[in-house]
Amino acid sequence: MQEPAALVAAIALALSSVPAGAAGGPADPYAALAQQEARLAAIAYRLTTASARWCPAVTPQPGWILGDLRRFPEGDRMAAGEIYGRADGPFIAAVAPGSPAERAGLTRGTRIAAINGDAILPAGEGPTIRIDTAIVKLYSLDPAGAWTITDTQGHLFRMAPAPGCASAFRIEFQGAQAAANGILVRVTLALAQSIDDDAQLAAVVAHELAHNILRHRDRLGSDRSAARVRQTEFEADRLAVWLMADAGYDPAAAIRFWERHKRPLVRATSHPPRSERIATIESEIKAMAVARAASSTARPALIDTLPPLE
Ligand SMILES: [Zn+2]
Repeated sequence: MQEPAALVAAIALALSSVPAGAAGGPADPYAALAQQEARLAAIAYRLTTASARWCPAVTPQPGWILGDLRRFPEGDRMAAGEIYGRADGPFIAAVAPGSPAERAGLTRGTRIAAINGDAILPAGEGPTIRIDTAIVKLYSLDPAGAWTITDTQGHLFRMAPAPGCASAFRIEFQGAQAAANGILVRVTLALAQSIDDDAQLAAVVAHELAHNILRHRDRLGSDRSAARVRQTEFEADRLAVWLMADAGYDPAAAIRFWERHKRPLVRATSHPPRSERIATIESEIKAMAVARAASSTARPALIDTLPPLE
């Protein structure tokens, strides 16, 4: 784990693009955003907590998506406030069904003042710095312990422990369709809206979460040659099969996604063709079935023997 200030800087760097208002879809982009954030919260909570027993890095997973009006252009903040409330401060944008956040009574629009009694006081400005500070505080907590949230009106919410694979999640208006920076998984509103089937959206989220679990950003470092990037893509496709299965999604939803989604999510030059991805996913589904037939608690081989990137 990096030290907190560097972590915040890394997240901020990766998220420096400020959304520029409406994406495609419903007339009110903020209603659309909140709708997709609710889907993402539910999917991410299932994926992270179901695989906690084999994830190498585990953190508390409250089952929320965090927001901040500062993410949005100033001219849009009144409209965004209709959905998320107008008060200043980082807020709950969505909660997952059955999650500690929901069970504690947190709802969309709750403003977070403190986590476990520690005020969220970021060093600096920036559209997401308060959210990122909250994520860093969360990562410093014991994943197996209970903790608290204090809202800006002084109410205390008791959060039950829910360890999950370490990652936060966010929906953006702009940028690559889906991406992972080691700490955060993000998908664009347009991509989420284009996928009606929750299992297919889960496949995309699981693939990005797998990049974070496998520390691909760190392991690639500055050598992002096409061959190395392709290797990370196949690794993420394979690990996502296990994440999906553990969370109760059909891992073959990833195949259905790639059969339908003709456009590469990122650069076509360094990312494998769809046919190779589908073949990789199919063979991993078979490998997982064999491993789990031998032992119902079998872990993905990738977690125990991570091959060097070459
Ligand atoms: Zn990828």
